[in-house]
Amino acid sequence: QLSIRLARVASHVPKNSVVADIGSDHAYLPCYLVSQGLAERAVAGEVVKGPYESAKKQVIQEQLEDKIAVRLASGLEAIHQEDGITAVTIAGMGGPLIVSILDQGKDRMAGIERLILQPNVHALAIREWAAANQWTVIEEEIIKENNKIYEIIVLEPSNQPVTFTPAELLMGPVLMKEGSEAFREKWQRESAQWKNIIASIESTEQTLEIVEKKHELVGKIQLVEEVLNREN
Ligand code: SAM
Repeated sequence: QLSIRLARVASHVPKNSVVADIGSDHAYLPCYLVSQGLAERAVAGEVVKGPYESAKKQVIQEQLEDKIAVRLASGLEAIHQEDGITAVTIAGMGGPLIVSILDQGKDRMAGIERLILQPNVHALAIREWAAANQWTVIEEEIIKENNKIYEIIVLEPSNQPVTFTPAELLMGPVLMKEGSEAFREKWQRESAQWKNIIASIESTEQTLEIVEKKHELVGKIQLVEEVLNREN
């Protein structure tokens, strides 16, 4: 049984894709995509031996060896040109780690029509990467499962420059427009945390670094509150 989070990631994979799932762990996502006929074939990439072994085990257990290649490799090095990969999924990691995988794998992106990314934290890093590398946000989703809130960002290559306002960069252009319950809750939580940090550093020595940090947090709180109040 796939988690809601991974099922929602799967829902953004175009039908008949050839998918590379990077950081696949137990390979639940590629197994689901292929066994449900949602993807033609898949590659499951893992950089750590243990998860790589469990991915292999899962693929054998589901008798999908002829359709899913499990590879021990870092990031997009799991992809070979002859695979004909059309979509990449990277889920369950921090935004900056996802970005470093994308940055290091730039020469392996030919033919990739869609990136489906699910950062656990700091989704902003992915939007910054998208703008810098001309990928456009075609869909975003925010979900709550087991009291955790997850964002999914779906990117496609763009032939025009991609830009975001500061609020869009932080909160997501699509998610901001929708203003869902999970979205509101996420940003209320974040903003409350920032206020706690500000309160806790109030009593420490006001070095330049601390003052700058406070300034940055105040700016972010204002940005978030503006957006949340706009929704009302
Ligand atoms: N994608 C699955 C999911 O969303 O449930 C598993 C997420 S798990 C928390 C993150 C996995 O990414 C770990 O198994 C880790 O070994 C793998 N990983 C981290 N850095 C990686 C890299 N550079 N290349 C491939 N896999 C990586």
